[in-house]
Amino acid sequence: MTAQIIDGKAIAQQVRAEWKIRSDKLIAQGVTPGMAVIIVGNDPASKVYVANKVKACAELGLYSIHVEMPADTSEAALLAEVDALNKNPAIHGILVQLPLPGHLDAHKVIEAINPDKDVDGFHQMNVGALVTGETPFPSCTPYGVMVMLEKTGIQIEGKHAVVVGRSNIVGKPMALLLLHKNATVTICTSKTVDLAKHTRDADILVAAVGKPNFITGDMVKPGAVVIDVGINRNSDGKLVGDVDFASVSAVAGFLTPVPGGVGPMTITMLIANTVRAAERLSGLVKHADAE
Ligand code: NDP
Repeated sequence: MTAQIIDGKAIAQQVRAEWKIRSDKLIAQGVTPGMAVIIVGNDPASKVYVANKVKACAELGLYSIHVEMPADTSEAALLAEVDALNKNPAIHGILVQLPLPGHLDAHKVIEAINPDKDVDGFHQMNVGALVTGETPFPSCTPYGVMVMLEKTGIQIEGKHAVVVGRSNIVGKPMALLLLHKNATVTICTSKTVDLAKHTRDADILVAAVGKPNFITGDMVKPGAVVIDVGINRNSDGKLVGDVDFASVSAVAGFLTPVPGGVGPMTITMLIANTVRAAERLSGLVKHADAE
């Protein structure tokens, strides 16, 4: 079998066009969705991510600001910045680029964000809402995976989904979103015994491990849908996923590439969450319709 490659770039473009229509409606009524990104310090990867987020906003006609703070920023100064953005009516979505320098408590900072502006979906209130199935802001990477599956026409209900990884930003919300769509979900971690036994049983396998080429063809059920969330550099400095593309593409039915798979969806869903936040906060779209 040769896997069908899921083109994340093409799906992301299509989804952005759909959200642009919603955003343009708001703009026509005098509300430009606005996003603020706070970055603390000089981490080069974080700077690239922030630049990409700001660029995506500009492409869709959204307003965005990015606040750069020095690496030695105090917690009080960072919390004051978050507070100012919470009160800024031009800003509907706030995100704090992670990781933060070690002296800053990311949990405390995220909890300071107004949950109605928490477009990353990391605030406890939105995480709790995700558990009960009602969050307005699913965290962007797993949300992007769900949209990819939907746009590719992959059935989720009744399937066995195996998520490898349990981080708060990818693995756990991924498992919950799949569960809400009536998959039977298994979560594997570094402590799982006989990982391959579980992954080989997956109809839908999501790898969010952070280890290059970790999932190999012998760990995959023939015809399975394999979603590679990983973004890693291999020893040659090349960008690779958690899935060994060569061996898995010979076994799987569907596979996302890295780059060009899940990555483009993440920023797209951040845009979606920001537009949804603006719809809700402006009162121009009823909450029930701002889904
Ligand atoms: P974390 O490091 O926070 O989590 C990794 C998870 O993998 C942990 O739950 C860990 O288990 C598990 N794990 C590690 N080793 C094994 C193993 N041998 N067997 C089974 N499970 C294992 O990473 P993230 O969730 O933040 O990110 C995962 C990957 O996704 C990274 O490559 C990251 O760069 C990428 N990423 C990509 C995004 C995108 O837009 N495409 C967005 C966010 C992340 P345990 O909990 O037991 O330690």
